[in-house]
Amino acid sequence: MPVLPDRSARHSTVAMALRTAALVNALADPAAGPREIAGVLLAHGEDPPLTVTAEDVPPMRAAAVRLREVFAAASVDEAAALLDPLLAARTGPLRLTSHGGASPWHPHLDASDDAPWPEWFLASGCLALAVLLWDRQAPPGRTCASARCGDVFVPHGSGPERRYCSRRCATRERVAAHRARTAAAPGAD
Ligand SMILES: [Zn+2]
Repeated sequence: MPVLPDRSARHSTVAMALRTAALVNALADPAAGPREIAGVLLAHGEDPPLTVTAEDVPPMRAAAVRLREVFAAASVDEAAALLDPLLAARTGPLRLTSHGGASPWHPHLDASDDAPWPEWFLASGCLALAVLLWDRQAPPGRTCASARCGDVFVPHGSGPERRYCSRRCATRERVAAHRARTAAAPGAD
């Protein structure tokens, strides 16, 4: 998973969106518990020590389901229509924090710096996806085109539009498509 160690890059919109995608993907695994979720948070720059409890996981999983719908939106209009009710009902007013000087100033939509993980996750995910949508005027995320994967991802950087979450999925699907073609037309390739 991509990790952005630089202090201000860690708080960029893309870094927040990548962390949101990593959590949505991790929480899709029914076996994932507090240890796995804490591992994702640490890998994305949250400071240790951090405690995720067993009680945090089900509401985080529920938030992940809502955020996954936004990642799966096929158009910017659809993504906005999914984000708007979440912003209205499930997040707080926009506030700025530097976590007492420990980080660059950045916006939050949770009620306080001590908000529980589920509230923080939904709020930070909605914020990152809303800003990306605003900036790009495009859906802020995608779902991997590999039927065997289903992970969500954040398209970023230049180059052709990505259909797969990773090089691994792209290669696997290319090999499978090639095999299917050669099986259908023996000797043609
Ligand atoms: Zn994939």
